[in-house]
Amino acid sequence: MGEGAPGPVAVVLGTRPEAIKLAEVVRRLGSAGLLVHTGQHYDAALWSDVTAQLGFGTEPVALGVGGSSRGQQLGAAVAALDETFARHRPSCVVVQGDTTAALAGALAANAADLPLVHVEAGLRSFDRRMPEEHNRVLIDHLADLCCAPTATAVAHLRAEGIADERILLTGNTVVESVQHLLPPAAERDRVLAELGLPARYLLLTLHRPENADNPDVLRQVFGELQAVVADGLPVVFPAHPRTLDRMRRDGLGDLVDAFTVIAPQPPAQFLALLERARLVVSDSGGVQEEVSVLKKRLVVVRRSTERPEVMGTFASLVPGGLRLGAAVRAALAEDPQALRDVPSPYGDGSASRVVVESIVKLVAPF
Ligand code: UDP
Repeated sequence: MGEGAPGPVAVVLGTRPEAIKLAEVVRRLGSAGLLVHTGQHYDAALWSDVTAQLGFGTEPVALGVGGSSRGQQLGAAVAALDETFARHRPSCVVVQGDTTAALAGALAANAADLPLVHVEAGLRSFDRRMPEEHNRVLIDHLADLCCAPTATAVAHLRAEGIADERILLTGNTVVESVQHLLPPAAERDRVLAELGLPARYLLLTLHRPENADNPDVLRQVFGELQAVVADGLPVVFPAHPRTLDRMRRDGLGDLVDAFTVIAPQPPAQFLALLERARLVVSDSGGVQEEVSVLKKRLVVVRRSTERPEVMGTFASLVPGGLRLGAAVRAALAEDPQALRDVPSPYGDGSASRVVVESIVKLVAPF
């Protein structure tokens, strides 16, 4: 940057889904971007294997803050970001979603008096038991620009008194992320073959605290899915390290003996598995959006969702417990072709471009 030129745009992220959904924003910012990784996800399967595929084109500033409690991570990340911002003098800060890393980025931007852009603003589960709900509300109220993925998200922001000048309807960057990462059909076949998977299977992911941290819920969820396997549909489970760790500690390892347990997959391989699955069962946020792009049917195993736009079409909601099996059987009874022409509520793949254009206006408003 030359004398008088605005500083870099700091993109602060900490986890796999943020990396996946901000990749196109980072690529478009090019040399104007400063990528900062807090370290919230540090496991290779959730970070280096993921980012290797994303083509950021730049190495992140790594803060190495991870592996501790939420409060400690938050405090340490804000302090480390404060130093990073003092050193690199960014012109604005971009965060995405609802993670501890995103909240740390928002608080540090506020403390340094830097403009803040929140990508994927306005999502609400109205479930105060979820830390993510508090994170997203706080970030939206700190942000100078809330990039809302849908009209529903815009309505939530307005209802909380956020001024129209701070809200922009952008679509969700997940659409272009899927378009960029999904391998061609022949490659998808190869992914399945290399993992030794059958042609017809149910894909399972599970990592939210309401499921992974509760042994009773885990026992019930796995029990319900064992019955699905017994009915003839294999379950493929790319197991999140958080869930595996909890299962080992609680002595629940044998509950997944009936499943094909595989390592967390890099994003392209995971999308291949998603696109080929007969049905998806997950508590993930991002997967709720991705199924709408890939036209797949998903059973969301959660008490609440902040993504109501896909409910009743691509997804149904059931809390982790003994109703899961019935929800899975009901979803399997539907015609999978019926979703083929249902449009994704998350836009047309232009969100990242719109976000970057609005960042440019924010840092150079003349
Ligand atoms: N994902 C992946 N490999 C996997 C499982 C998921 O790349 O083995 C991707 C998935 O496609 C989505 C993102 O990770 O883009 C979702 O992340 P996660 O479920 O960890 O977080 P959430 O979206 O719930 O915040």
